Amino acid sequence: MMNPLAVWKFGFELRSWSPSYQRRLMRVYQPFGMTNIRKIKTVIVAGGRGTRLGDLTVDIPKPLVTVGERSILEHLILQLRTFGLNEILLATGHLGHVIEERLGDGRQMGVSVTHVRENSPQGSAGCLRPLRDWVSEDFLVIYADVFQAMDLARLVDFHLRNHSRATLVVHPNNHPHDSDIVVAREDGAITDLLCKKNPRPRYFNNLVNAGVHILNRAVFQYLPETGMVDLVGDLLPTMLQAGEPLFAYRTGEYLKDMGTPPRLEEVRVAWSNGQVQARSWCAPAQPAIFLDRDGTLIEYVPLAHTLEHIQLYPWSVSAIRTINRAGIACFLVTNQPVVARNLCTLEDIYRAHDKIETLLGEGGAFLDDIRFCPHHPDGGFAGENPIYKIRCTCRKPGSDMIEDLANRYNIDLESSWFIGDSSVDIMTGRNAGMKSLLVETGEGGRDGRCALEPDRTCSNLETAVTYALRRIQERMGL
Ligand SMILES: [Zn+2]
Repeated sequence: MMNPLAVWKFGFELRSWSPSYQRRLMRVYQPFGMTNIRKIKTVIVAGGRGTRLGDLTVDIPKPLVTVGERSILEHLILQLRTFGLNEILLATGHLGHVIEERLGDGRQMGVSVTHVRENSPQGSAGCLRPLRDWVSEDFLVIYADVFQAMDLARLVDFHLRNHSRATLVVHPNNHPHDSDIVVAREDGAITDLLCKKNPRPRYFNNLVNAGVHILNRAVFQYLPETGMVDLVGDLLPTMLQAGEPLFAYRTGEYLKDMGTPPRLEEVRVAWSNGQVQARSWCAPAQPAIFLDRDGTLIEYVPLAHTLEHIQLYPWSVSAIRTINRAGIACFLVTNQPVVARNLCTLEDIYRAHDKIETLLGEGGAFLDDIRFCPHHPDGGFAGENPIYKIRCTCRKPGSDMIEDLANRYNIDLESSWFIGDSSVDIMTGRNAGMKSLLVETGEGGRDGRCALEPDRTCSNLETAVTYALRRIQERMGL
């Protein structure tokens, strides 16, 4: 049973997605409209043997494992129906007949279900071969063991707007080292895929393929007639090489593959306390924690600009993990005038952030997103890069980076916190309408650039996070 307080607070759960949400959907997606969404067919890949779930899946196939009052497959079908995605194909394998008996043709759930059983495993792309004549021009491919409550209309809209041949839903997770990594530009265009089975650089970004995709029929041109073909390992790299436009759709919504018993347990807890539903972009805006970088998350080095300068504080990993476990979004927002000073390039900043994400990931922690301002307003330094010597609105204490994140990630700033080590950070929090927390590490507020009192001062990031989370949870009535 869902926590009734959470339902009341978030005003949202799966059952209540219909009619008011659908009306909002109609307004928001006018350019493509519900009619276009309805044309899209969905393939649910439900063939996994579920061996890692052990005893749980001896007699029942993994998609029929329950979370709350229904199976994960039924959760998924109800969600699809809400978005008008009523044409569903179930690609099953192991114990496929049990799923067939349970769901039949889907009429009981108000959808149309077609079953296709795979005799021998063909890989995550190879299994699409027999569906060539069934799928629509663009079609959704979802793994049944990915538990999520995403705004699927927004995803479809993104895919169609970009004329993408394949769109992958991506997000940072707490085990990037054993996940397929997607490298993408800020507009989402994919530039590289780092498959988990291949060697990868020491430091990489934490953007993981989440197991939800929209593909265009064009993928069949690249699909070999026979043999095992993996989507991220084989098919998509071939398409990327051929210059096909592939896109990453980055989301902060709840998405978890529940392939192991501990992950299944995490999903069950997150569902019962309302976290899954609250993080959906269909739900009301949620609180978040925004962090400064130098002197707050990483050790303070004046004008840090090399990889060696990037060192997490000993408590940083556990502090971020605590935020992640509470189901609250966490963003890094930093000024990097070292680019304007020409001490390093934009690329170097991205590499530095790869190092931060890798080190956090090794400890099971992640940042939901990162924004930095490369600008500086005052010219006249020897060797400076004039392109970045401008008066911008992103540089803290300006609130552009924060407002951009809030819009994109459905964040309510009034209930959010900014944690930083300088008076500029306190001013940034104030300017964005947030509460602010000063940490005594780094500059510890001694920079004297803005005369403002923080809402609270804490010794370091860990104690600051504990305080901010307690206040956020009090406010949510949890
Ligand atoms: Zn800027």
